[in-house]
Amino acid sequence: MRMLLGGKGANLAEMTVIGLPVPPGFTITTEVCREYQTTKSLTPEVIEQIDAALAALEKKMGKRFGDATNPLLVSVRSGAPVSMPGMMDTILNLGLNDETVEALARATNNPRFAWDSYRRFIQMFSNVVLGIGLHNFEAILDEHKKRHGFTQDIELQAEHFKAIVPEYKALVEKTIGKPFPMDPRAQLMAAINAVFESWDNPRAQVYRRINKIPETLGTAVNVQAMAFGNMGDDSATGVCFTRNPNSGVKEFYGEYLPNAQGEDVVAGIRTPYPISHLKETMPEVYDQLFNLCELLESHYKDMQDIEFTVERGKLYMLQCRAGKRTPVASIKIAVDLVNEGKISKEQAILRVEPDKINNILHPAIDPKAKLDILATGLAASPGAASGVCVFDPDRAVKLAGEGQKVIMVRPETSPDDIHGMVVSQGILTSRGGMTSHAAIVSRGMGKPCVVGCEAIKIDLEARQFTVNGRVIREGDVISIDGATGNVIAGAVPVVDPELSPEFRTLLTWADEIRTMGVRANADTPQDALRAREFGAEGIGLCRTEHMFGQGGHHPERMVVAREMILAEDKEERMAALEKLRVMQREDFYEIFKAMDPHPVTIRLLDPPLHEFLPDEEDLAIEVALLRAKGGNAEELREKENLLRKVRALSEMNPMLGFRGCRLGMIYPEIYEMQVRAIFEAAAQCNKEGMKVEPEVMHPLVGIVTELAFLREMTDRVAREVMEETGVTFKYMVGTMIEVPRAAVTADEIAEHAQFFSFGTNDLTQTTFGFSRDDAEGKFLAQYVERKVLPENPFVSIDRKGVGKMVEIACELGRKARPEIKLGVCGEHGGDPASIEFFQSVGLTYVSCSPYRVPVARLAAAQAAA
Ligand code: PEP
Ligand code: MG
Repeated sequence: MRMLLGGKGANLAEMTVIGLPVPPGFTITTEVCREYQTTKSLTPEVIEQIDAALAALEKKMGKRFGDATNPLLVSVRSGAPVSMPGMMDTILNLGLNDETVEALARATNNPRFAWDSYRRFIQMFSNVVLGIGLHNFEAILDEHKKRHGFTQDIELQAEHFKAIVPEYKALVEKTIGKPFPMDPRAQLMAAINAVFESWDNPRAQVYRRINKIPETLGTAVNVQAMAFGNMGDDSATGVCFTRNPNSGVKEFYGEYLPNAQGEDVVAGIRTPYPISHLKETMPEVYDQLFNLCELLESHYKDMQDIEFTVERGKLYMLQCRAGKRTPVASIKIAVDLVNEGKISKEQAILRVEPDKINNILHPAIDPKAKLDILATGLAASPGAASGVCVFDPDRAVKLAGEGQKVIMVRPETSPDDIHGMVVSQGILTSRGGMTSHAAIVSRGMGKPCVVGCEAIKIDLEARQFTVNGRVIREGDVISIDGATGNVIAGAVPVVDPELSPEFRTLLTWADEIRTMGVRANADTPQDALRAREFGAEGIGLCRTEHMFGQGGHHPERMVVAREMILAEDKEERMAALEKLRVMQREDFYEIFKAMDPHPVTIRLLDPPLHEFLPDEEDLAIEVALLRAKGGNAEELREKENLLRKVRALSEMNPMLGFRGCRLGMIYPEIYEMQVRAIFEAAAQCNKEGMKVEPEVMHPLVGIVTELAFLREMTDRVAREVMEETGVTFKYMVGTMIEVPRAAVTADEIAEHAQFFSFGTNDLTQTTFGFSRDDAEGKFLAQYVERKVLPENPFVSIDRKGVGKMVEIACELGRKARPEIKLGVCGEHGGDPASIEFFQSVGLTYVSCSPYRVPVARLAAAQAAA
């Protein structure tokens, strides 16, 4: 009943039913929250039900709310259907007032505990319900500690807390103009309202947006009798996991604090003990906890994250849920659970989030690198990251917005830091443990994180930290290694990731389940080999312009490409093309060989030609300077000539201009050269015993006549090459579908195309009329922020519009040519949500960058499962 009771409520109910020691309580449903979001109040019926549930709880506990001898205290905690750790509010020790605190002190014979609980309650309630900043209370607490020469909270005694409480109350009264509420029932109602309010707080909104959690889910509120972990040294509170959430290894893992309340562990204020330490201090409790955790894991068939409290030697389970884990751990746990016979392969596939495993496919620090290690903290979330230090989340957002890579450094993080964490490459904290906020959130985001690095002394005001006498300031580059916990000065060299054996196993299962093919976008033999290693079953897009010197490879080719473009007549152009043909034939040969026997789709030249020429403005300046200086006349003439050409080719809207097959229509000799190079390479490969069937792809077709003309040329060149070489080979001719006109006339186009490959980058640009180069920076980010669009359509396919185009084209294409092959090679081919859509319209394959191939294999399996 997770949707109605929230994750926490449902699991508490279930643990109670199984017979685990759970403090009694009741849950107010998410339905009430949804209602609350419109009316901003609780209905009389709900209030009546709360009173009834409270009465039942009092009866069960044998304690009464506000009772002067045996008072009931409760916790009030949020719990949404989808876990949102730390995003919403919690209040503990509710029910305390000037009278019940005395009763609690007497009943427990522990005045220190009672007064400490009371001041905690005032602090928490005032923060959550009354909106008074925690630092105001911290200041009072610190002042008292200083007065007595104490450094730790634990040194404060009952009389100290007794003196602190009136100051807390005075602070509240001064701030809100009313005294702190003394009536427990009024406290409860206010707390419930506040939890419902917190559903909509900014940090929860940000969290929901990042994690794509619907606004309409709402949160439940759990009201539960308190169990106290701060009643002395025979009490404790902690968090544990049934498997290691970082590595996935099957071991009992976690940490706890003796004589403390729950929030102390998560907030990272004191550094906790590892759970193994509990075995020494409270062996019986440890055994009971261990067994209950095993029971819960078997029951839920997944790794559990459990919160517990020990009150005077008695164990209480406060919460259990499927534990957050690193991407690496999610794979290991899923595979181990299949091997232990607990879940099926399909379930394992569905347990791993493809979006997250993207991260582990990214580089780690080169083990051979010499590192200038500044300090070592706890390795909280794996991956390596370098960037400039920033010390607050707003600065992180600002610098990241200016294009800088940043590492956010904080003493510890809280939910208020989320926006900074989102834009950072990695997170470093000087305090806190493996279950601190920074650790949990980074792990969830799949970002590198090092926590509890106590050697670094952070000065937030001065925006710097010192470590072993060295000072690192805002703007200095550091690196963190979330696999070892190292903090390193400067940037670090990185190496490509390797797939773990478990990951390989999981991907083999994915391959058994998926029905769509997965290919890679690759332009070089090296990329092709990497793609194969990651399991690509062919190349879905080889962008030939990248072989013309674009993108950094082969700068010498740029010169020849320019010769081709600047040729004064056909003869000159043919001479340049001849040089290019030889180079391209070599490229294609190597790529075919690297992929053999898998298919390779080669796309003919696509970008506007001016992209191969120097920048118009730079050139104009050079010409002006030469003129002014009266320099070399020949050089000036040459530059002027070049500038004239550049101006002649320049367009107002180059991406809507003279590019793609339009080039092939107007300069057929360019495409003919490329097609010839492809077929000559194919002939050579086949002669050498490989089985190569090239797929020639014409870009940006929008009119059937374009493709008819180009198909005719392609077939003619194929015949010629077969005749010349005496080698026959199979090949295919197809087109990209990248403009709406192609999509809606796909039946005509399919008469000439043996395959379609959806170029969803251009198709998104042309369907929306959004420039793919400018829209994101100019307005699209805001569109997403303001929910004009649910998502950036260049990242995840817009199903309603662009997706509709794809659907129409598939349908029309299949009608005209039932055996037509349908693929996608835009960026969406590696996006899990888009892959789900492509499965639903029945594409034959998706094609994406080599690093995303494993993600696509997994996502395709999930889509098919
Ligand atoms: C596309 O438009 O989706 C595509 C794959 O081609 P390019 O990104 O090279 O324009
Ligand atoms: Mg395109």
